[in-house]
Amino acid sequence: MDINARNIATPAANAPTMQPASVPVPVVGRFAPSPSGRMHLGNVFSCLCSWLSARSQGGSIVLRIEDLDDRCKRPELAAQLIDDLAWLGLEWDEGPYYQHDRLDLYESALRRLNDADLTYPCFCTRAELHAASAPHASDGTPIYRGACRNLSVEEIARRSVLRAPATRLRVPTVDDLAGDVIEFVDRTYGAQCEALATECGDFLVRRSDGVFAYQLAVVVDDAAMGVTEVVRGCDLLGSTPRQIYLQHLLGLPTPHYAHIPLLMSPDGRRLSKRDRDLDLGELRARFGTPEALLGWLAGQTGIAPDTTSRSAEQLVEHFSWNVIRAHRENITVTAE
Ligand SMILES: [Zn+2]
Repeated sequence: MDINARNIATPAANAPTMQPASVPVPVVGRFAPSPSGRMHLGNVFSCLCSWLSARSQGGSIVLRIEDLDDRCKRPELAAQLIDDLAWLGLEWDEGPYYQHDRLDLYESALRRLNDADLTYPCFCTRAELHAASAPHASDGTPIYRGACRNLSVEEIARRSVLRAPATRLRVPTVDDLAGDVIEFVDRTYGAQCEALATECGDFLVRRSDGVFAYQLAVVVDDAAMGVTEVVRGCDLLGSTPRQIYLQHLLGLPTPHYAHIPLLMSPDGRRLSKRDRDLDLGELRARFGTPEALLGWLAGQTGIAPDTTSRSAEQLVEHFSWNVIRAHRENITVTAE
């Protein structure tokens, strides 16, 4: 079937990717943590950059708790996250919003995609998707080869009895006149492009257990909350083309993107949640004050010239994207 995948965005002017320089748009950044555990030094660094970037432009911050997944539906962890951000002095201006309260919005966006015949049910099992031969996208997910793209109505009915399907979004094919390549400029990593058909494939917008896909929820929320600037860890850089594609389809604006390099230990290992001494519970106990922790982190990562104690507010004058860009290959922190 030949589809013009961009035909439900109305009108084209609704999807600006650049703002004319003459029209000042208030900067709105966001914190979007998942309450799957205690905040970690890497999360603190992402939130700090997001906050400093917004504040250095006179902008505001929205706080959104991304708790769609069952393992994130833990109110005590969300409360802990909120307490940690407040302790750090990374104040937000709006929220917290909780994704579990916003399911109607995701449902309605999905309905629009369904109505435009841009989605289809996928019955593939995890084992089928992760077959050894499957090539992988930049974010590690298997590139979907379209096994369920053209199932007949009868086949869909037959399989639905056996197994609840997931929902996939059709991406343009390489022959599509509208083009299948998504391009954007990341504030840290520069020009990016991805050919959706070959480097990603039709992607999930809803899982077989009914949970909305991260990509869909984030796009709906960022637009609804007026977010103009997305600052987040570079492990999500590979998700961005899918989100931009969804924005095009739904007629939503595309924010600016800035992905933050992951923090590494001196031996070249990515710092992770396994490093228990770097969770915020331990860090709060070790540093005692937010100023001591933020000053140390800013000095280690090059935002500030040294590791003197500084509040988030005092770091605003030191912040520059040039520093983050200069260290984009790796930012090494010494945990001692
Ligand atoms: Zn499938």
